[in-house]
Amino acid sequence: MVDQVYIDGSWETVATDETITVYDPSTENVLGEVPAAGDTEVAAAAEAAAAAQSDWGLRSAPERAELIDDILTVVREHRDELASLLTAEVGKPTSAAQDELDFALEIGDYAVGGGRRIEGDVLPANSQSEKVTIERHPHGVVSCIVPWNFPVWIFIRKVAPALVTGNTVVAKPSSNTPLATHRLVELIDEEVDLPDGVLNFLTGHGSDLGDSMVSDGNVDMVSMTGSTGVGRQIAQTAAESLIPASLELGGKAPAIVWKDADLDAAVEDLITARVSNTGQICTCAERIYVHSEVAEEFTEKYVAAAEDITIGDPRDDPDIGPQVSEGELESTHQAVETATAEGARVLTGGNPPEGEEFENGYWYTPTVLTDVTQDMEIIQEEVFGPVSPIIEIDSMDQALEYANDSEYGLSSYLFTNNYRLVNRIADELEFGETYINRTLGEEAQGHHIGWNNSGLGGNDGEDGKYGLLKYTKIKTLYQNYEDPAGTQ
Ligand code: NAP
Repeated sequence: MVDQVYIDGSWETVATDETITVYDPSTENVLGEVPAAGDTEVAAAAEAAAAAQSDWGLRSAPERAELIDDILTVVREHRDELASLLTAEVGKPTSAAQDELDFALEIGDYAVGGGRRIEGDVLPANSQSEKVTIERHPHGVVSCIVPWNFPVWIFIRKVAPALVTGNTVVAKPSSNTPLATHRLVELIDEEVDLPDGVLNFLTGHGSDLGDSMVSDGNVDMVSMTGSTGVGRQIAQTAAESLIPASLELGGKAPAIVWKDADLDAAVEDLITARVSNTGQICTCAERIYVHSEVAEEFTEKYVAAAEDITIGDPRDDPDIGPQVSEGELESTHQAVETATAEGARVLTGGNPPEGEEFENGYWYTPTVLTDVTQDMEIIQEEVFGPVSPIIEIDSMDQALEYANDSEYGLSSYLFTNNYRLVNRIADELEFGETYINRTLGEEAQGHHIGWNNSGLGGNDGEDGKYGLLKYTKIKTLYQNYEDPAGTQ
């Protein structure tokens, strides 16, 4: 039982005695409990963060970066322990949990380097002996709201750039998966010399404390990754408080496989892009549009690849483990049932796997669907599970029309050897990122940004220089350095 939350450098008991039970999705066994913090704890955490911010923000950025680097050392030195917590609470295979920590280290390293790259501008002024200087300043207190699919990676992805740019933080994990980040904060408390109040950490239901994490008068910015519905609520509250919101929301990535593509490579990349993390990634390739001239061969190979995916106890390191919760499993299965009721045909999968070892837990077999049409729910709604609907297309006009026919605009994929098509896609595909002839996976120096209902667009995405600078606000200095007395 983890019974406290972290406020102002101390572990505090929450005002109510409510707790949240955390389950192992591969067995349904109870893993532990965390306290359900509420508005009282948000107010205390935000006040502590605001009090700590003025000193923290005045430290030099490289000095702050050294402390972020110490946090990364903690992640590195406790990689196995943190990975086993991720495996237990998310159901990730061991090597995928270790990969998640490596992503966290990579993104954290970028933020550490960012301590030397918070760049402004110096511009010529209208008058002699004057210049215009544009500086970057921290917003103040940032609320960081993290989803369950990559608890540690997304925690570091938000907290590291927020802190290095001089903000202080109130962070909250998902109620499904609070244990690995809770342990990480315990280790940070023990091993890193962060000033009190710079990092605060609350477990609690988003539906209870989420609103005050945005509306509290001490909060100056919110950075949230999660579903579009919750993102929309947060945007409304942030608008009321007139604070910036950075929202990384749902996706429905299309994958276009053109007739000249290397089909074996496309199949290998796309099956990975669909089933990784048991299909529970916002960048997953969720709908495949394949040219009719190669559709039969592609589909045959893709089905074989889906049937090769191993599924089982995540501690045995199969390709995929269970889904994170009963709710996620039910919504995957419901999506497949609805699709078949609408006329889709299951080529493989379509059910939980059989066997004694799957009697408990939230398992679903990699599933491939054909006879799918563009208007079906399986093509329009996000499906966070290992399900691949395939549609044939005859032209790039049609592929683009179908791909863009979505409320989402996060990730997309193209497989072709035709450079003209690559450039056409860059012009016409309405998604914030496109993977060309490769599988999923953002890089720390890129920029992960959702268009349409996948986020707010603009430059407010994660990673790279834009992801760093979104944690800053601009100040302009108009400087006159004329010496009227002529004494110098
Ligand atoms: P979610 O239900 O929206 O939850 C995300 C976070 O928001 C959790 O910490 C949740 O807390 C919190 N929350 C819930 N209600 C809230 C409220 N009213 N105010 C403030 N915070 C609130 O999403 P999820 O199910 O954890 O994650 C899956 C979704 O995230 C998918 O749609 C996926 O596509 C998206 N995602 C997007 C990206 C990206 O980069 N674009 C990356 C990963 C995931 P509780 O857990 O306590 O409810």
